Amino acid sequence: MLEPLVRNNLPRLQGLYDRVPAPARDLLVSARGWLLTQIRYSAETLAMLRALRAGEFWSAEQIYLYQLGALRRTLDLAVRTVPHYAGYSCATIRNVEDLRQFPVLDRETVLHNQVHFLSRAVPPRQRIRAGTTGTTGASLRVAYTEKLARANWAFLLRQWAWAGVEPRHPRITLQGARVVPASRTDPPFWTYNAAERQILMSIFHLSEKTAPDYLGFLWKHAGKVLEGFPSVLGILADFALDRGMQIPMSVVFTSGEPLYPSLRAKIEQAFQARVFDTYGMTEYCGLIQECERGEMHLAPEYGFLEILDERGEPAAPGTEGDFVWTGFLNEAMPLIRYRIGDRGRWQAGGPCPCGRSFPLVVPTITRESDILRCPDGRLFSPRALNQLLKQSVSLRFCQFVHDRPDRVVVRAVPRTAPGTAQNNGGAMAEVLRIRTSLEHLLGPCMQVITDLASEPIARRGGKIPLIVNEVPQ
Ligand SMILES: [Zn+2]
Repeated sequence: MLEPLVRNNLPRLQGLYDRVPAPARDLLVSARGWLLTQIRYSAETLAMLRALRAGEFWSAEQIYLYQLGALRRTLDLAVRTVPHYAGYSCATIRNVEDLRQFPVLDRETVLHNQVHFLSRAVPPRQRIRAGTTGTTGASLRVAYTEKLARANWAFLLRQWAWAGVEPRHPRITLQGARVVPASRTDPPFWTYNAAERQILMSIFHLSEKTAPDYLGFLWKHAGKVLEGFPSVLGILADFALDRGMQIPMSVVFTSGEPLYPSLRAKIEQAFQARVFDTYGMTEYCGLIQECERGEMHLAPEYGFLEILDERGEPAAPGTEGDFVWTGFLNEAMPLIRYRIGDRGRWQAGGPCPCGRSFPLVVPTITRESDILRCPDGRLFSPRALNQLLKQSVSLRFCQFVHDRPDRVVVRAVPRTAPGTAQNNGGAMAEVLRIRTSLEHLLGPCMQVITDLASEPIARRGGKIPLIVNEVPQ
Protein backbone atom coordinates (compact mmCIF):
# COMPACT_ATOMS: atom_id res chain seq x y z
CA MET A 1 0.00 0.00 0.00
CA LEU A 2 3.08 2.25 -0.04
CA GLU A 3 2.97 2.74 -3.79
CA PRO A 4 0.14 5.34 -3.92
CA LEU A 5 1.96 7.40 -1.26
CA VAL A 6 5.29 7.31 -3.09
CA ARG A 7 3.99 7.64 -6.65
CA ASN A 8 1.69 10.55 -5.82
CA ASN A 9 4.56 12.46 -4.19
CA LEU A 10 7.27 11.84 -6.81
CA PRO A 11 7.17 15.41 -8.22
CA ARG A 12 7.86 16.76 -4.71
CA LEU A 13 10.64 14.23 -4.08
CA GLN A 14 12.38 15.17 -7.36
CA GLY A 15 13.86 18.41 -5.91
CA LEU A 16 15.44 16.53 -3.02
CA TYR A 17 16.72 13.83 -5.37
CA ASP A 18 18.40 16.39 -7.66
CA ARG A 19 20.41 17.84 -4.75
CA VAL A 20 22.13 14.64 -3.56
CA PRO A 21 25.42 13.26 -5.03
CA ALA A 22 25.48 10.42 -7.57
CA PRO A 23 26.08 7.48 -5.15
CA ALA A 24 23.12 8.64 -3.04
CA ARG A 25 21.01 8.89 -6.19
CA ASP A 26 21.82 5.22 -6.92
CA LEU A 27 20.68 4.36 -3.41
CA LEU A 28 17.43 6.27 -3.76
CA VAL A 29 16.76 4.77 -7.20
CA SER A 30 17.42 1.30 -5.81
CA ALA A 31 15.11 1.92 -2.86
CA ARG A 32 12.39 3.05 -5.28
CA GLY A 33 13.26 0.04 -7.46
CA TRP A 34 12.91 -2.30 -4.49
CA LEU A 35 9.43 -0.92 -3.82
CA LEU A 36 8.50 -1.50 -7.46
CA THR A 37 9.81 -5.08 -7.40
CA GLN A 38 7.28 -5.73 -4.62
CA ILE A 39 4.65 -5.04 -7.29
CA ARG A 40 6.41 -6.28 -10.42
CA TYR A 41 7.55 -9.65 -9.11
CA SER A 42 4.87 -10.29 -6.48
CA ALA A 43 3.23 -13.72 -6.29
CA GLU A 44 0.07 -12.18 -7.81
CA THR A 45 2.00 -10.76 -10.78
CA LEU A 46 3.74 -14.04 -11.51
CA ALA A 47 0.46 -15.96 -11.16
CA MET A 48 -1.13 -13.57 -13.63
CA LEU A 49 1.80 -14.05 -16.01
CA ARG A 50 1.24 -17.82 -15.88
CA ALA A 51 -2.46 -17.32 -16.60
CA LEU A 52 -1.68 -14.99 -19.51
CA ARG A 53 0.78 -17.46 -20.98
CA ALA A 54 -1.76 -20.26 -20.62
CA GLY A 55 -4.31 -18.19 -22.55
CA GLU A 56 -2.00 -17.34 -25.44
CA PHE A 57 -3.37 -19.99 -27.72
CA TRP A 58 -7.06 -19.46 -27.09
CA SER A 59 -9.32 -19.93 -30.10
CA ALA A 60 -11.24 -16.98 -31.54
CA GLU A 61 -14.34 -18.24 -29.71
CA GLN A 62 -12.55 -18.45 -26.36
CA ILE A 63 -11.29 -14.91 -26.88
CA TYR A 64 -14.83 -13.72 -27.67
CA LEU A 65 -16.30 -15.35 -24.56
CA TYR A 66 -13.53 -14.00 -22.34
CA GLN A 67 -14.05 -10.47 -23.67
CA LEU A 68 -17.82 -10.66 -23.28
CA GLY A 69 -17.43 -11.69 -19.63
CA ALA A 70 -14.85 -8.98 -18.98
CA LEU A 71 -17.06 -6.34 -20.66
CA ARG A 72 -19.99 -7.32 -18.44
CA ARG A 73 -17.85 -7.08 -15.30
CA THR A 74 -16.45 -3.69 -16.36
CA LEU A 75 -19.84 -2.21 -17.25
CA ASP A 76 -21.35 -3.54 -14.05
CA LEU A 77 -18.59 -1.93 -11.97
CA ALA A 78 -18.96 1.37 -13.84
CA VAL A 79 -22.75 1.55 -13.55
CA ARG A 80 -22.68 0.67 -9.83
CA THR A 81 -19.77 2.83 -8.68
CA VAL A 82 -18.86 5.58 -11.19
CA PRO A 83 -20.94 8.80 -11.04
CA HIS A 84 -20.63 9.46 -14.78
CA TYR A 85 -22.32 6.12 -15.56
CA ALA A 86 -25.00 6.33 -12.85
CA GLY A 87 -27.91 6.59 -15.31
CA TYR A 88 -26.95 3.58 -17.46
CA SER A 89 -27.98 -0.03 -17.30
CA CYS A 90 -25.81 -2.98 -18.23
CA ALA A 91 -28.54 -5.59 -17.91
CA THR A 92 -28.94 -5.91 -21.67
CA ILE A 93 -25.38 -6.78 -22.68
CA ARG A 94 -26.00 -10.10 -24.44
CA ASN A 95 -23.20 -9.78 -26.97
CA VAL A 96 -20.30 -7.42 -27.56
CA GLU A 97 -22.33 -5.37 -30.09
CA ASP A 98 -24.62 -4.33 -27.22
CA LEU A 99 -21.72 -2.27 -25.90
CA ARG A 100 -22.83 0.29 -28.48
CA GLN A 101 -25.69 1.27 -26.16
CA PHE A 102 -23.04 3.31 -24.36
CA PRO A 103 -21.93 6.53 -26.07
CA VAL A 104 -18.38 7.07 -27.32
CA LEU A 105 -16.40 8.99 -24.75
CA ASP A 106 -13.98 11.70 -25.82
CA ARG A 107 -10.78 12.62 -24.04
CA GLU A 108 -12.12 16.19 -23.61
CA THR A 109 -15.14 14.90 -21.64
CA VAL A 110 -12.90 12.98 -19.24
CA LEU A 111 -10.53 15.94 -18.98
CA HIS A 112 -13.28 18.34 -17.89
CA ASN A 113 -15.05 15.95 -15.51
CA GLN A 114 -12.20 13.89 -14.09
CA VAL A 115 -13.71 13.31 -10.64
CA HIS A 116 -16.93 11.95 -12.16
CA PHE A 117 -14.96 9.07 -13.62
CA LEU A 118 -13.48 7.87 -10.32
CA SER A 119 -14.97 4.67 -8.96
CA ARG A 120 -16.24 4.58 -5.37
CA ALA A 121 -15.08 0.96 -5.27
CA VAL A 122 -11.49 2.13 -4.77
CA PRO A 123 -10.85 4.25 -1.63
CA PRO A 124 -8.93 7.51 -2.32
CA ARG A 125 -5.81 6.38 -0.43
CA GLN A 126 -5.48 3.40 -2.79
CA ARG A 127 -5.60 5.58 -5.89
CA ILE A 128 -2.35 6.14 -7.74
CA ARG A 129 -2.45 9.27 -9.90
CA ALA A 130 -0.56 9.54 -13.17
CA GLY A 131 -0.37 12.44 -15.59
CA THR A 132 -0.67 11.77 -19.28
CA THR A 133 -0.24 14.04 -22.26
CA GLY A 134 -1.51 13.45 -25.73
CA THR A 135 1.96 14.67 -26.82
CA THR A 136 0.74 18.13 -27.78
CA GLY A 137 -2.13 18.99 -25.49
CA ALA A 138 -3.55 19.16 -22.01
CA SER A 139 -2.77 16.60 -19.40
CA LEU A 140 -5.27 14.10 -18.07
CA ARG A 141 -4.87 12.85 -14.49
CA VAL A 142 -5.55 9.13 -14.59
CA ALA A 143 -6.17 7.17 -11.40
CA TYR A 144 -5.22 3.52 -11.18
CA THR A 145 -4.52 0.88 -8.55
CA GLU A 146 -1.61 -1.25 -7.42
CA LYS A 147 -3.54 -4.26 -8.71
CA LEU A 148 -3.50 -2.71 -12.17
CA ALA A 149 0.23 -1.98 -11.88
CA ARG A 150 0.81 -5.69 -11.19
CA ALA A 151 -1.36 -6.79 -14.12
CA ASN A 152 0.32 -4.29 -16.41
CA TRP A 153 3.73 -5.70 -15.51
CA ALA A 154 2.52 -9.26 -16.15
CA PHE A 155 1.58 -8.21 -19.70
CA LEU A 156 5.01 -6.66 -20.17
CA LEU A 157 6.66 -9.89 -18.99
CA ARG A 158 4.54 -11.91 -21.40
CA GLN A 159 6.01 -9.93 -24.29
CA TRP A 160 9.47 -10.43 -22.78
CA ALA A 161 8.77 -14.16 -22.93
CA TRP A 162 7.82 -13.84 -26.63
CA ALA A 163 11.23 -12.20 -27.13
CA GLY A 164 12.94 -15.03 -25.23
CA VAL A 165 13.84 -12.86 -22.22
CA GLU A 166 13.44 -14.02 -18.61
CA PRO A 167 11.98 -11.71 -15.90
CA ARG A 168 14.68 -9.57 -14.25
CA HIS A 169 17.11 -9.91 -17.14
CA PRO A 170 19.50 -6.93 -16.76
CA ARG A 171 18.23 -3.97 -18.72
CA ILE A 172 18.99 -0.39 -19.72
CA THR A 173 16.06 2.00 -19.74
CA LEU A 174 15.75 5.34 -21.54
CA GLN A 175 12.36 6.70 -20.58
CA GLY A 176 11.05 9.93 -19.09
CA ALA A 177 12.46 9.78 -15.53
CA ARG A 178 14.76 12.66 -14.62
CA VAL A 179 17.49 10.45 -13.17
CA VAL A 180 20.30 13.03 -13.41
CA PRO A 181 20.03 16.80 -12.65
CA ALA A 182 19.55 18.92 -15.79
CA SER A 183 22.64 21.07 -15.11
CA ARG A 184 25.04 18.13 -15.16
CA THR A 185 27.66 18.28 -17.97
CA ASP A 186 29.91 15.33 -17.05
CA PRO A 187 29.09 11.65 -16.66
CA PRO A 188 27.46 9.77 -15.04
CA PHE A 189 24.28 10.40 -17.04
CA TRP A 190 22.77 7.24 -15.55
CA THR A 191 21.80 5.64 -12.26
CA TYR A 192 21.55 2.06 -11.03
CA ASN A 193 18.48 0.32 -9.73
CA ALA A 194 20.19 -2.63 -8.06
CA ALA A 195 16.87 -4.20 -7.05
CA GLU A 196 16.00 -4.92 -10.67
CA ARG A 197 19.48 -5.05 -12.26
CA GLN A 198 18.39 -2.02 -14.23
CA ILE A 199 20.33 1.01 -15.43
CA LEU A 200 18.32 4.17 -16.03
CA MET A 201 19.93 6.53 -18.54
CA SER A 202 18.94 10.18 -18.83
CA ILE A 203 17.15 11.22 -22.01
CA PHE A 204 17.88 14.88 -21.18
CA HIS A 205 21.67 14.87 -21.62
CA LEU A 206 22.05 13.51 -25.15
CA SER A 207 24.42 15.64 -27.21
CA GLU A 208 27.24 15.39 -29.72
CA LYS A 209 29.56 16.16 -26.79
CA THR A 210 28.20 13.44 -24.49
CA ALA A 211 27.74 10.88 -27.30
CA PRO A 212 31.13 9.17 -26.59
CA ASP A 213 30.16 8.83 -22.89
CA TYR A 214 26.80 7.27 -23.74
CA LEU A 215 28.29 4.95 -26.36
CA GLY A 216 31.23 3.93 -24.15
CA PHE A 217 28.87 3.12 -21.30
CA LEU A 218 26.50 1.15 -23.55
CA TRP A 219 29.48 -0.75 -24.98
CA LYS A 220 30.42 -1.85 -21.46
CA HIS A 221 26.87 -3.15 -21.03
CA ALA A 222 26.47 -4.87 -24.39
CA GLY A 223 24.19 -7.90 -24.33
CA LYS A 224 21.62 -6.40 -21.99
CA VAL A 225 18.01 -5.61 -22.83
CA LEU A 226 17.59 -2.06 -24.14
CA GLU A 227 14.22 -0.32 -23.71
CA GLY A 228 13.03 3.20 -24.42
CA PHE A 229 11.22 5.71 -26.57
CA PRO A 230 11.82 5.23 -30.32
CA SER A 231 13.02 8.80 -30.91
CA VAL A 232 15.54 8.53 -28.08
CA LEU A 233 16.90 5.16 -29.22
CA GLY A 234 17.03 6.66 -32.72
CA ILE A 235 19.32 9.45 -31.46
CA LEU A 236 21.60 6.88 -29.82
CA ALA A 237 21.56 4.75 -32.98
CA ASP A 238 22.66 7.80 -34.98
CA PHE A 239 25.50 8.45 -32.52
CA ALA A 240 26.73 4.88 -33.02
CA LEU A 241 26.24 4.58 -36.78
CA ASP A 242 27.82 8.02 -37.44
CA ARG A 243 30.95 6.67 -35.76
CA GLY A 244 30.83 3.35 -37.59
CA MET A 245 29.93 1.56 -34.34
CA GLN A 246 27.54 -1.26 -33.57
CA ILE A 247 26.73 -2.19 -29.98
CA PRO A 248 25.07 -5.62 -29.76
CA MET A 249 22.20 -5.76 -27.26
CA SER A 250 20.12 -8.89 -26.61
CA VAL A 251 16.78 -7.34 -27.59
CA VAL A 252 15.21 -3.87 -27.85
CA PHE A 253 11.75 -2.91 -26.55
CA THR A 254 10.18 0.33 -27.73
CA SER A 255 6.99 2.09 -26.63
CA GLY A 256 5.45 5.51 -26.12
CA GLU A 257 5.83 6.87 -29.64
CA PRO A 258 5.29 5.69 -33.20
CA LEU A 259 8.11 3.48 -34.46
CA TYR A 260 8.56 4.36 -38.13
CA PRO A 261 10.14 1.69 -40.38
CA SER A 262 13.26 3.81 -40.97
CA LEU A 263 13.67 4.32 -37.22
CA ARG A 264 13.26 0.60 -36.57
CA ALA A 265 15.85 -0.27 -39.22
CA LYS A 266 18.36 2.19 -37.75
CA ILE A 267 17.88 0.91 -34.19
CA GLU A 268 18.12 -2.74 -35.26
CA GLN A 269 21.30 -2.01 -37.21
CA ALA A 270 23.02 -0.02 -34.45
CA PHE A 271 22.13 -2.49 -31.69
CA GLN A 272 22.22 -5.70 -33.72
CA ALA A 273 18.98 -6.85 -32.13
CA ARG A 274 15.31 -7.38 -32.87
CA VAL A 275 12.98 -4.56 -31.89
CA PHE A 276 9.68 -5.46 -30.17
CA ASP A 277 7.28 -2.55 -30.23
CA THR A 278 4.31 -1.87 -27.93
CA TYR A 279 1.32 0.42 -28.27
CA GLY A 280 -0.08 1.33 -24.87
CA MET A 281 -1.28 4.40 -23.02
CA THR A 282 -1.31 5.91 -19.54
CA GLU A 283 -5.11 5.60 -19.45
CA TYR A 284 -4.46 1.84 -19.15
CA CYS A 285 -7.44 0.81 -21.26
CA GLY A 286 -5.75 -1.08 -24.05
CA LEU A 287 -2.58 -2.76 -25.21
CA ILE A 288 -1.12 -3.91 -28.54
CA GLN A 289 2.16 -5.83 -28.53
CA GLU A 290 4.47 -7.07 -31.24
CA CYS A 291 5.11 -10.82 -31.32
CA GLU A 292 8.24 -12.70 -32.38
CA ARG A 293 6.91 -12.82 -35.94
CA GLY A 294 6.74 -9.03 -36.12
CA GLU A 295 2.95 -8.65 -36.02
CA MET A 296 1.06 -6.35 -33.63
CA HIS A 297 -1.45 -8.31 -31.51
CA LEU A 298 -4.29 -6.88 -29.47
CA ALA A 299 -4.00 -8.15 -25.87
CA PRO A 300 -7.61 -9.39 -25.50
CA GLU A 301 -7.44 -9.73 -21.70
CA TYR A 302 -6.45 -6.07 -21.32
CA GLY A 303 -9.27 -4.26 -23.07
CA PHE A 304 -11.85 -4.30 -25.82
CA LEU A 305 -11.02 -2.41 -29.00
CA GLU A 306 -13.43 -0.91 -31.53
CA ILE A 307 -12.12 0.80 -34.65
CA LEU A 308 -14.78 3.25 -35.86
CA ASP A 309 -15.18 5.22 -39.07
CA GLU A 310 -16.28 8.87 -39.19
CA ARG A 311 -19.97 7.84 -38.89
CA GLY A 312 -19.20 5.92 -35.70
CA GLU A 313 -19.67 2.55 -37.46
CA PRO A 314 -17.14 -0.30 -37.24
CA ALA A 315 -14.42 0.18 -39.86
CA ALA A 316 -13.91 -2.70 -42.30
CA PRO A 317 -10.66 -4.71 -41.95
CA GLY A 318 -7.85 -2.81 -43.62
CA THR A 319 -9.66 0.54 -43.31
CA GLU A 320 -8.28 3.14 -40.95
CA GLY A 321 -10.48 4.46 -38.15
CA ASP A 322 -10.49 5.82 -34.60
CA PHE A 323 -9.36 3.61 -31.73
CA VAL A 324 -12.15 3.34 -29.14
CA TRP A 325 -11.18 1.39 -26.02
CA THR A 326 -13.01 -0.21 -23.10
CA GLY A 327 -10.39 -1.20 -20.54
CA PHE A 328 -10.88 -4.26 -18.31
CA LEU A 329 -8.19 -3.65 -15.71
CA ASN A 330 -8.59 -0.21 -14.17
CA GLU A 331 -11.06 -0.49 -11.30
CA ALA A 332 -10.18 3.02 -10.05
CA MET A 333 -11.26 4.77 -13.25
CA PRO A 334 -13.02 2.50 -15.75
CA LEU A 335 -13.34 4.14 -19.17
CA ILE A 336 -16.01 2.84 -21.53
CA ARG A 337 -15.76 3.36 -25.29
CA TYR A 338 -12.95 5.84 -24.81
CA ARG A 339 -11.81 7.53 -28.02
CA ILE A 340 -8.18 8.16 -27.24
CA GLY A 341 -7.31 10.19 -30.33
CA ASP A 342 -5.13 7.54 -32.02
CA ARG A 343 -6.00 5.72 -35.19
CA GLY A 344 -5.34 2.35 -36.75
CA ARG A 345 -6.83 -0.54 -38.68
CA TRP A 346 -7.58 -4.24 -38.30
CA GLN A 347 -5.09 -6.17 -40.34
CA ALA A 348 -6.83 -8.07 -43.12
CA GLY A 349 -5.58 -11.50 -44.09
CA GLY A 350 -4.85 -14.77 -42.37
CA PRO A 351 -3.77 -15.56 -38.82
CA CYS A 352 -0.27 -14.74 -37.58
CA PRO A 353 2.36 -17.43 -38.18
CA CYS A 354 3.13 -17.29 -34.42
CA GLY A 355 -0.06 -19.34 -33.91
CA ARG A 356 -1.86 -16.90 -31.61
CA SER A 357 -5.42 -15.93 -32.53
CA PHE A 358 -5.16 -12.55 -30.81
CA PRO A 359 -6.49 -10.06 -33.41
CA LEU A 360 -3.89 -8.20 -35.46
CA VAL A 361 -4.02 -4.41 -35.36
CA VAL A 362 -1.90 -1.83 -37.14
CA PRO A 363 -1.70 1.42 -35.18
CA THR A 364 -1.22 4.22 -37.71
CA ILE A 365 -0.57 7.00 -35.25
CA THR A 366 1.63 9.62 -36.76
CA ARG A 367 2.56 11.98 -33.97
CA GLU A 368 4.93 13.97 -36.01
CA SER A 369 7.82 15.82 -34.48
CA ASP A 370 11.28 17.13 -35.18
CA ILE A 371 14.18 16.81 -32.77
CA LEU A 372 15.43 19.94 -30.99
CA ARG A 373 19.09 20.51 -31.88
CA CYS A 374 20.82 23.11 -29.70
CA PRO A 375 23.82 24.97 -31.20
CA ASP A 376 26.11 23.35 -28.58
CA GLY A 377 25.25 19.89 -29.92
CA ARG A 378 22.62 18.82 -27.38
CA LEU A 379 19.66 16.88 -28.73
CA PHE A 380 16.18 16.71 -27.22
CA SER A 381 13.66 14.11 -28.38
CA PRO A 382 9.94 14.90 -28.47
CA ARG A 383 9.51 12.68 -25.42
CA ALA A 384 12.08 14.67 -23.46
CA LEU A 385 10.15 17.92 -24.05
CA ASN A 386 6.77 16.22 -23.70
CA GLN A 387 7.62 15.60 -20.04
CA LEU A 388 7.32 19.36 -19.47
CA LEU A 389 3.63 19.29 -20.39
CA LYS A 390 2.64 16.65 -17.84
CA GLN A 391 1.06 19.10 -15.38
CA SER A 392 -0.63 21.26 -17.98
CA VAL A 393 -4.45 21.38 -17.96
CA SER A 394 -5.46 24.70 -19.59
CA LEU A 395 -3.81 24.29 -22.98
CA ARG A 396 -5.37 22.77 -26.06
CA PHE A 397 -1.98 22.53 -27.75
CA CYS A 398 1.55 23.42 -26.80
CA GLN A 399 4.40 23.28 -29.30
CA PHE A 400 8.08 24.09 -29.14
CA VAL A 401 9.19 26.17 -32.09
CA HIS A 402 12.95 26.38 -32.64
CA ASP A 403 12.89 29.57 -34.74
CA ARG A 404 16.48 30.83 -34.31
CA PRO A 405 19.65 28.90 -33.49
CA ASP A 406 19.65 30.17 -29.91
CA ARG A 407 15.91 30.54 -29.32
CA VAL A 408 12.85 28.36 -28.65
CA VAL A 409 9.27 29.63 -28.57
CA VAL A 410 6.78 27.93 -26.25
CA ARG A 411 3.78 28.32 -28.52
CA ALA A 412 0.52 27.53 -26.74
CA VAL A 413 -3.10 27.39 -27.82
CA PRO A 414 -5.35 27.92 -24.77
CA ARG A 415 -8.59 25.99 -24.35
CA THR A 416 -10.50 29.28 -24.54
CA ALA A 417 -9.88 31.93 -27.19
CA PRO A 418 -6.79 34.09 -26.58
CA GLY A 419 -7.65 37.44 -25.05
CA THR A 420 -10.53 36.27 -22.88
CA ALA A 421 -10.10 36.94 -19.19
CA GLN A 422 -10.47 33.26 -18.32
CA ASN A 423 -7.51 32.13 -20.38
CA ASN A 424 -5.25 34.98 -19.34
CA GLY A 425 -5.08 33.53 -15.84
CA GLY A 426 -4.67 29.75 -16.07
CA ALA A 427 -3.18 29.33 -19.51
CA MET A 428 -0.62 32.11 -19.14
CA ALA A 429 0.50 30.81 -15.75
CA GLU A 430 0.97 27.37 -17.28
CA VAL A 431 2.89 28.69 -20.27
CA LEU A 432 5.22 30.58 -17.92
CA ARG A 433 5.72 27.45 -15.82
CA ILE A 434 6.56 25.45 -18.96
CA ARG A 435 8.96 28.23 -20.00
CA THR A 436 10.73 28.08 -16.63
CA SER A 437 11.13 24.29 -16.82
CA LEU A 438 12.41 24.56 -20.38
CA GLU A 439 14.92 27.26 -19.41
CA HIS A 440 16.08 25.02 -16.60
CA LEU A 441 16.48 22.11 -19.02
CA LEU A 442 18.18 24.04 -21.84
CA GLY A 443 20.43 26.23 -19.68
CA PRO A 444 21.68 29.78 -20.34
CA CYS A 445 22.79 29.24 -23.97
CA MET A 446 19.19 29.12 -25.19
CA GLN A 447 16.62 31.87 -24.92
CA VAL A 448 13.02 30.78 -24.27
CA ILE A 449 10.07 33.02 -25.11
CA THR A 450 6.32 32.42 -25.07
CA ASP A 451 3.54 32.98 -27.54
CA LEU A 452 -0.21 32.44 -27.23
CA ALA A 453 -1.87 31.49 -30.51
CA SER A 454 -5.37 30.56 -31.60
CA GLU A 455 -4.40 27.58 -33.78
CA PRO A 456 -1.48 25.14 -33.66
CA ILE A 457 1.12 24.88 -36.44
CA ALA A 458 -0.06 22.00 -38.61
CA ARG A 459 1.69 20.16 -41.40
CA ARG A 460 0.43 18.40 -44.49
CA GLY A 461 -2.38 16.01 -43.58
CA GLY A 462 -3.18 18.03 -40.43
CA LYS A 463 -0.38 16.54 -38.34
CA ILE A 464 0.61 18.70 -35.41
CA PRO A 465 4.29 18.32 -34.50
CA LEU A 466 5.40 18.79 -30.89
CA ILE A 467 8.75 20.28 -31.91
CA VAL A 468 8.90 22.50 -34.98
CA ASN A 469 12.46 23.03 -36.17
CA GLU A 470 12.75 26.11 -38.40
CA VAL A 471 16.52 26.49 -38.17
CA PRO A 472 18.41 25.41 -41.29
CA GLN A 473 20.80 22.59 -40.27
ZN1 LIG B 1 2.01 -13.22 -33.93
